Amino acid sequence: MPEMSVADEAELFLKMIADPGCEPGLYECLACFVARRVEDVGCDDTRLWTQWFRDLKSPTATALETRLFDLGVTCDCRLVTRGYRMHRALLVRDLMTDELSAPDEMPDCAGVRRTSTKPCANWERRPLDDWQPPRHG
Ligand SMILES: [Zn+2]
Ligand SMILES: [Zn+2]
Repeated sequence: MPEMSVADEAELFLKMIADPGCEPGLYECLACFVARRVEDVGCDDTRLWTQWFRDLKSPTATALETRLFDLGVTCDCRLVTRGYRMHRALLVRDLMTDELSAPDEMPDCAGVRRTSTKPCANWERRPLDDWQPPRHG
């Protein structure tokens, strides 16, 4: 990730303040928030939203970064493709392929403690050997 100048950071901050969707809800969890932001604005190969969430909710949770990095979460979209997965109970079965996939509409966050950086009940830890590169076609 390239170093950001103070001006860049200030601009980013203003952009974030201007967009109400970029504030995590009071009890919204990290995984729901980041999934929501990645869906809205995409992933730019940084952990911008993960860090933003951490800064706002739990500035002292500095171990979070390391913990996520160990899970292979090197950018925001990987938080919800590698780090965590949607809980099975929320997945929908594709009648054609019989595969389970995430619903089109993200379910509402089940809620966590205000300063928690853990995902809510909508998510579960993905087993480390479970990850496969996304298939094309
Ligand atoms: Zn990404
Ligand atoms: Zn949640």
